[in-house]
Amino acid sequence: MFPDRQLAIVAERVLQAQAPMKVLAAEDNPVFQSMLRAMLTKWGYEAVVARDGNEAWQALQAPDGPCLAILDWMMPGLDGVEICRRVREASREPYVYIILLTARTDSRDLVEGMEAGADDYLTKPFEAHELRVRLRAGQRILDLQQQLLAAREALREQATHDNLTGLLNRGSILETLRNELARSNREGQPVAVLMVDLDRFKQVNDTFGHLGGDNVLREAARRMKGAIRSYDAVGRYGGEEFLILLPGCEGATALVQAERIREALSAEAFEFNGRPFPVTCSIGVSCRTHPDGGDSDALIREADEALYAAKDHGRDRVSAMCRG
Ligand code: GH3
Ligand code: MG
Ligand code: MG
Ligand code: MG
Repeated sequence: MFPDRQLAIVAERVLQAQAPMKVLAAEDNPVFQSMLRAMLTKWGYEAVVARDGNEAWQALQAPDGPCLAILDWMMPGLDGVEICRRVREASREPYVYIILLTARTDSRDLVEGMEAGADDYLTKPFEAHELRVRLRAGQRILDLQQQLLAAREALREQATHDNLTGLLNRGSILETLRNELARSNREGQPVAVLMVDLDRFKQVNDTFGHLGGDNVLREAARRMKGAIRSYDAVGRYGGEEFLILLPGCEGATALVQAERIREALSAEAFEFNGRPFPVTCSIGVSCRTHPDGGDSDALIREADEALYAAKDHGRDRVSAMCRG
């Protein structure tokens, strides 16, 4: 994974671990309400108290709402079982672990509560330590789920990004291109494709070694990312070749943008081990203003041809191949 992002995820997890965990206590009886609040606070949780089912449902829907909930079965408004059903139907992520609280003792009630989506069940009156261990069990499940989500996120990041530059990898930038073309078909907007190739990059490797070359690739990626607009996309197409997508750009605008990106990349010297040196790039531009103007393969082929023309004409320049 891209180191900065990995660091951010770890930092977020540390912060989350330090903050007290929110627990929703939904209970209409004022005596039980204050008992639950006191217990939760004493055990180090942040108690979010709801006095009826509607308040409870609202609290659970908040963007950073509690993931651990104690729901009284019988409440005005929505009852605990109905809330369980709604939470499971919404299949929110992260998971909400629900402990249902009730005066009912019939085993059929237990089955109904669990089938509605409760994870655990506690009969009133209950012992404080019993609730405490059940909350801990819930917390363990939530911690495990958090780890799974983080692992899934890391895998997704690895599968879609280039690990040297942190840019989208070849597969992802091509997928983004296909999506952009589909959107441009629907909305009748143009799309431009830029194929960027670093000039005489082999010489950089020959002079500064592979690590020096890698450094240039990272820095070039950073500069290109800084030069594009928020709705553009940039990916590493191959070795020292990058693909940039400019949605909404027709020929003339695409050329201006490409020129800006070329300048942003080469304006300042690159540096390795304290030695400054220039790096330039050549850019081939293709664009499509009409849905019949070619698919992703055609656009890439034309950007590639334009790139070869830019190389032929002396490098460090932009060349275009635009049609309908
Ligand atoms: P041109 O101006 O014609 O594009 O010349 P060039 O030297 O850039 O092109 P060429 O295709 O001959 O060389 C590209 C070089 O890029 C060769 C390859 O070793 C290097 N390269 C590809 N991927 C990487 C990488 O991940 N790291 C480093 N350091 N070098 C790479
Ligand atoms: Mg009640
Ligand atoms: Mg190349
Ligand atoms: Mg090159």
